[in-house]
Amino acid sequence: APDYIRAISPYQPGKPTSELAREMGIPEAGIVKLASNENPLGMGARAREAVVAALSGSARYPDGNGFALKSALSRRFHVDPERIVLGNGSNDVLELVARAFLGPGRSAVFSRYAFAVYPLAVNAVGARGIEVAAKAYGHDLKAMAAAIVPDTRVVFIANPNNPTGTFLSGEDIEAFLAQVPADVLVVLDEAYTEYLDPARRYDSLAWLAHYPNLLVSRTFSKAYGLAGLRVGYGIAHPDVADLMNRVRQPFNVSSVALAAAEAALGDEEFLAQTARINERGMMQITDALRRLGLEWIPSAGNFVTFKAGDSARINAALLRQGVIVRPIGSYGMPEWLRVSIGLPEENARFIAALEQALD
Ligand code: PMP
Repeated sequence: APDYIRAISPYQPGKPTSELAREMGIPEAGIVKLASNENPLGMGARAREAVVAALSGSARYPDGNGFALKSALSRRFHVDPERIVLGNGSNDVLELVARAFLGPGRSAVFSRYAFAVYPLAVNAVGARGIEVAAKAYGHDLKAMAAAIVPDTRVVFIANPNNPTGTFLSGEDIEAFLAQVPADVLVVLDEAYTEYLDPARRYDSLAWLAHYPNLLVSRTFSKAYGLAGLRVGYGIAHPDVADLMNRVRQPFNVSSVALAAAEAALGDEEFLAQTARINERGMMQITDALRRLGLEWIPSAGNFVTFKAGDSARINAALLRQGVIVRPIGSYGMPEWLRVSIGLPEENARFIAALEQALD
């Protein structure tokens, strides 16, 4: 393998519930996993029905162009289907960006503490990552604009960011777009955008008309509750979408996933319920962190990152009580733990376990 492949450190996913259940000798149902920012409600009823209906056709290849899902996205967001690229999760969209626009001799800019897949995708194609120092654990857009060099072709921005939950306003992002050279693609990763408070929302898709170098990336893994099915999408200028489609696997999204995503997209009630559960759970957990005297980073997503101090010890104590959260030492935040917002009773289990861990 080339040296740039050998230099990659693998992505560290959350510990699977089955693994901890086996270690503890208890059934999986006894484990609370709040580690991967999934929707604690699971899949919505409409998506579930669509999955069952799609199973009968799944001996055949899926529609490689995802016509029905792209049409549904096109209607929902008022964008031309030619602007849409479907991915096997939005991770796939990020990788397609790297494959289409990066390579040896090119660089990509991203922030410290930003989503871990950016450096992975960049390094996997032999390009150079330029990591920019963070500002209050979030993106420093001024510094990111200044970090762009002549061989830079991509800038990654996560808004809200994972794992810090930090948020940039629409005005700040628009001002950034105006500063970026036209030959640099700005990837605006909005994996958690459905969780935003309505007062903070901004219309990134409207910017596409002025910025042919913008790609908005979104996913069905978080608020839509389809993490296990793997569907994400990018929306960009048709030429950008075309280049990404050239390097895409022909059948990168399964037929079951396509059907589920299309159904989930129309399930406004499920999205609204998801937002309510998240808002309440966020209060439940941050109230407890305040009571316990722990520092946390205000989060616009469905998770919150808090300072645990000796996080290895706290994490081990949580695991012993059957609670899985996410250590983020690999993000360069060894004292912090990230907890995903769960159902009220799951949050309560986490809070009780944390109290005991701190004792
Ligand atoms: N972007 C961000 C910021 C994320 O946190 C995640 C999930 N951890 C993703 C993209 C990718 O998620 P998926 O591939 O499931 O769409």
